[in-house]
Amino acid sequence: MPDARTHDIITIATAVALAPLAQIVQVNSLSIGSLDAYPNSAWLVIAHVISGVLFSPDLDLDSAIDNRWGIFFWIWRPYMWLVPHRSVWSHSLIFSPLLRMAYFYFVLLGIILGATWLLGQVGIVVPDYSQQLSLTINHVTTDYPNASLAFVIGFCTGSAAHSIADWLVTSGKHILRRVGLQIRRDYRHHDRYVPRQRRAGR
Ligand SMILES: [Zn+2]
Repeated sequence: MPDARTHDIITIATAVALAPLAQIVQVNSLSIGSLDAYPNSAWLVIAHVISGVLFSPDLDLDSAIDNRWGIFFWIWRPYMWLVPHRSVWSHSLIFSPLLRMAYFYFVLLGIILGATWLLGQVGIVVPDYSQQLSLTINHVTTDYPNASLAFVIGFCTGSAAHSIADWLVTSGKHILRRVGLQIRRDYRHHDRYVPRQRRAGR
């Protein structure tokens, strides 16, 4: 559980490393022309950074991350209440980022439907933006399947870089030691988080 700043540095460093890797895999293993591969690599890197910085696994905790959402911090409040901190729901490698993506989509949909209903109550009729949102996502994913897939992969790697770093400084310390890195700080309680079952009696 390095702090948010350290996680940001890890996100940027891994994004820089992923850019050429994504390009090499596409050109050499998937036989995609290098010019066609560039936008996919770019989307992968962009999604990796967005996922690590804004959609971080630490949204399960009242932390620096939800502050980054400014006045929209409340979007993540129900998520924070429902998802146990550091659980497989928030910190697993593939499931968690996809869950956050789906959650964000449904919140967006809820806001649009709520606003449309409210405006309807005062006699203002607006176009069906919720349907437009779904149609746009549908169009983008069918017209640009490779870029869309690259975005989803990048979204997962951005989150995975965080979860792996968390694991390395706690349970995986021995691996870091083997490559000559000593973790002296005890990161288990750095965010003063106490698991629900141990909170009783405090
Ligand atoms: Zn974390």
